[in-house]
Amino acid sequence: MSLPSFQLHIPCTTDEAISLAKRFDGDSAFMAGGTDLLNNYADDLDVKTHVIALSKIRELKALSGSLIGSGVTIAELIDNQAMLPSVIGETARLIAGPALRNVATVGGNLLLAGRCVYFNRSKLYRCSHGACMKAEGQECITVPQSKRCYAPISGDLAPVLLVLDARFVIAGPSGARVVAARDFYRTDGIYSNVLGPAEILVQVLLPDDVHEVTARYLKLRSRSAMDFPEAGVAVAVKRNEGIPVELRVALGALGPAPTLAVRQTGELSQCSTDELAERLWKEMSTDVFAVRNTSLQPGYRREMAQLFIRRLLKELLK
Ligand SMILES: Cc1cc2nc3c(=O)[nH]c(=O)nc-3n(C[C@H](O)[C@H](O)[C@H](O)COP(=O)(O)OP(=O)(O)OC[C@H]3O[C@@H](n4cnc5c(N)ncnc54)[C@H](O)[C@@H]3O)c2cc1C
Repeated sequence: MSLPSFQLHIPCTTDEAISLAKRFDGDSAFMAGGTDLLNNYADDLDVKTHVIALSKIRELKALSGSLIGSGVTIAELIDNQAMLPSVIGETARLIAGPALRNVATVGGNLLLAGRCVYFNRSKLYRCSHGACMKAEGQECITVPQSKRCYAPISGDLAPVLLVLDARFVIAGPSGARVVAARDFYRTDGIYSNVLGPAEILVQVLLPDDVHEVTARYLKLRSRSAMDFPEAGVAVAVKRNEGIPVELRVALGALGPAPTLAVRQTGELSQCSTDELAERLWKEMSTDVFAVRNTSLQPGYRREMAQLFIRRLLKELLK
């Protein structure tokens, strides 16, 4: 595998990085750890003339109990897990393998290009078997005639940050803005989030009440040593004086965007956890688009997601 040629730029500030991206007018990509971007470049996928490395920007490395810079590595989340909600460290341990976690960043994980067995292929394979609409083809191979791409969101952190009610700080040519994690993703595997041209994900903000929340994440994958999620379920329970007052459930890897459901106190006390799990799945499954574009069967991925919801509700609401 060889990389196509590109010009590398290494700015030292967020503003400088944004100006460069603005100057290159769509023909550039930001690179954090490069573990996703350069893998795609090696397969000749969406290659740009200019690559803007974010690794020297100190602002992106900030880390505290309430703020995670987008340039913080997955390994640093594990090293600093004591200051963060425990579910973040637990999830970080499930991401890829140790070598990759030393380089891969939080920002890159949240912005990972949706993966699909027809997209993440070599150029040779795409030329001989036909390319999908996310590469150089005209239509979705799994769902022909579909107007949008079904590549599922394949990062483990997204559903976890949704149930923690995190917000994302974004900087761009027209200044900074803050977007709730739940509003950040779009249900399209190509245009998968709300980042505009030349915008950078700067930080993840955790809410003030995050320590009143207990959360867990379960993940289905082919090989537990290092595989991408085939289904991911995050559940968080917010308590007031020990009593559950809010339940949040998010699904990842079952469609282009993570899905979130929120329940308040009333319903939590009115039905059993099995009934609640069933109701939640019924509501959320309308936004689940698990199709035959990963290694495991869609039906199995859906079943495992339901099982994970039941298991986590039992554990967190007991
Ligand atoms: C073998 C292997 C196994 C893996 N297993 C898992 C797994 O089990 N679970 C999982 O969740 N992930 C897994 N991954 C994916 C891995 O987590 C991602 O590759 C990594 O998180 C991407 O981070 P990065 O810093 O290298 O991003 P990059 O590759 O540098 O960037 C990824 C994308 O995000 C954009 N980007 C990055 N940072 C910013 C920013 N701050 N602002 C704007 N755009 C930005 C880039 O332009 C690019 O489009 C695996 C990857 C590999 C290669």
